[in-house]
Amino acid sequence: MADSVQDDLARAERWLKSNTKRNAFKKLEKEIVKTGVCTECGACVSNCPVDALTGVYTTGKYVPTLTGNCTSCGICYTVCPRTLVFWKDLVGDFRSAWKVRSKLQNEKRQDGGAVIAFLSYMLDKKIVEAAVVTRQDTKKPWMPVAVLAVKKEELMVAGGSIYTHSPVVQEMMRGFKSGLKTIAVVGTSCNIDAISKMETHPAGLLQIDLGLGAFKIGLFCMESFTYTGLVQFLEKAGVDLKEVQRMAISSGVFTVTTSQGKHEWPVEDLSRATASSCSYCRDFSCKNADLSCGNIGSDEGWTTVLVRTIRGEQILQESAADGYIEAELLDPKGLESIERVARSKAMRYYSLKPER
Ligand SMILES: Cc1cc2nc3c(=O)[nH]c(=O)nc-3n(C[C@H](O)[C@H](O)[C@H](O)COP(=O)(O)OP(=O)(O)OC[C@H]3O[C@@H](n4cnc5c(N)ncnc54)[C@H](O)[C@@H]3O)c2cc1C
Ligand code: SF4
Ligand code: SF4
Ligand code: SF4
Repeated sequence: MADSVQDDLARAERWLKSNTKRNAFKKLEKEIVKTGVCTECGACVSNCPVDALTGVYTTGKYVPTLTGNCTSCGICYTVCPRTLVFWKDLVGDFRSAWKVRSKLQNEKRQDGGAVIAFLSYMLDKKIVEAAVVTRQDTKKPWMPVAVLAVKKEELMVAGGSIYTHSPVVQEMMRGFKSGLKTIAVVGTSCNIDAISKMETHPAGLLQIDLGLGAFKIGLFCMESFTYTGLVQFLEKAGVDLKEVQRMAISSGVFTVTTSQGKHEWPVEDLSRATASSCSYCRDFSCKNADLSCGNIGSDEGWTTVLVRTIRGEQILQESAADGYIEAELLDPKGLESIERVARSKAMRYYSLKPER
């Protein structure tokens, strides 16, 4: 190999060592090759600086195999198109990360109440004409209903998380069709991705009519449950849905609060109630939002907020300056927790695929 190429490779190897976790071939083999996720591209084999890998054809299939001495440089793992090494792949771009707590009187908040505080600021200052929020059906407790709120009081009843899909994009469209021009929308990444496509696809409404604008507040999301599945799970556990005041998922524990106290289960116990669509989802932190909000990464009673766009930054800074929220920069450990959970969600997708 020419000297200059060798030098470039050595530099690349040093960079990878200092910028990525060390991921030796064994890890690539365990996560990608043996699980059937490998696309047989040969990138790992051809990028190994010490030629420790060979693509071996086994029953017609190209299998990257360790045939030399691995130095654990991590290059094969990093170049593989199926691995998730870089922060951007896992959590997306963001400008700054915060922990935020609402200063508004709002009993019905899930974590720090940041989402409702941002929406309150935007409605008060007429930055948007309405906000799409999700609240419980008045007749069917914990059945989500997406509604357009135009007043602060309508926002306050919609705080808290309902762990079932809500048709927020349909409600946003109802608002635009009724003549509204600017709407803030709160949703999980599956909701926000639809809006993002409508903004970028040549035939998307928000691309065609440039006078319309959606401000996107995304929620971190590991999974949601079908309404029927959730009802059945709680019935079996002897919990009356009408008595439930709050549901929360944190650190793998599903907690339901009633006037009688708290009931807790490992989230895995609800696996049969998980919405089938969630099995196909890889984006935990809602990469296409203006502001992404969740509980992981912050202390109890605060909301973690990733600011992804300039207008998102304006809303956070201005609502802090006007006394709607208090905000502190997020601890680096908080960011590490987000990365860890985002990785586990993305890798869960792979484990669905049995080797063929
Ligand atoms: C299905 C789901 C799964 C989640 N999973 C995680 C997770 O794994 N890890 C994590 O850190 N955070 C998760 N979150 C986010 C977390 O529960 C809080 O929503 C977030 O921390 C914001 O808290 P807050 O106090 O600032 O929100 P609040 O100020 O209380 O406002 C909550 C907002 O969420 C909206 N909302 C409630 N339910 C839905 C719904 N089903 N669809 C769309 N919008 C809804 C409400 O309308 C309201 O606007 C999840 C949220 C949902 C809805
Ligand atoms: S030396 Fe580096 S590139 Fe080669 S197999 Fe080991 S970790 Fe992979
Ligand atoms: S780089 Fe990844 S996908 Fe490509 S052959 Fe190697 S393990 Fe398979
Ligand atoms: S896991 Fe994905 S599909 Fe399921 S509710 Fe969350 S964002 Fe939507």
